[in-house]
Amino acid sequence: MRASDLTGVFNCGIIFFVSGKSERDNSLINALIDAYPDARCELNYISDFELLVAVILSAQCTDRRVNLVTRELFEVANAPKKILELGEEALAKIIYPCGFYKVKAANIIDTARVLDENYNGKVPNDFDSLIKLKGVGRKTANVVMGELFNSGGVAVDTHVFRVSRRLGLASGNTVEKVELELAEKFKGLANRQIHHAMIFHGRYCCKSRNPECGRCRVREFCKVVEK
Ligand code: SF4
Repeated sequence: MRASDLTGVFNCGIIFFVSGKSERDNSLINALIDAYPDARCELNYISDFELLVAVILSAQCTDRRVNLVTRELFEVANAPKKILELGEEALAKIIYPCGFYKVKAANIIDTARVLDENYNGKVPNDFDSLIKLKGVGRKTANVVMGELFNSGGVAVDTHVFRVSRRLGLASGNTVEKVELELAEKFKGLANRQIHHAMIFHGRYCCKSRNPECGRCRVREFCKVVEK
């Protein structure tokens, strides 16, 4: 039986078979997951709210720096009410190293207020509510949905954008187009594991300027490098 003949989605250990996907896509997805079995979210968080704040802070900033900042921040304020008590000015001072600190502080305060007033301090588990929060765009909402609820679309960051095009999973020239293509390819899949594998591949091997093609575990699928 061919992988593409199977109906439904079966996660057998690390093997994914996706109905309607090409044999190539199935093989590539499995190879990526195989190559990065320990791929995971590298932002440190304990609660849903901490993850949401960390993802907002991660815009134009490395996960490593966000983790340094949130270690200090979450000690004093790790819930909507506490963030509101801390206040925008004090918050901005703490998150300064993440860049765009004034905008991010204003967004986090506004988001904390909305969560406190409308959601009993909880992070909503639906995409449409998430993207109405200040500082939460499609990428952030998809990361949160995927990480907390293992659902939602595909969060296309710089790594996912580059890797999916190089590997022929997508061809669009905008984040929105690539997101649509990947959503179609990953339809029905719990895509968190694939998403993390793609990010790890982009971050640690298929780098923007000097990809380490010599040790690439998915080179046979690459569209831009000679085999
Ligand atoms: S062969 Fe090189 S460019 Fe192609 S996917 Fe692998 S690391 Fe990226």
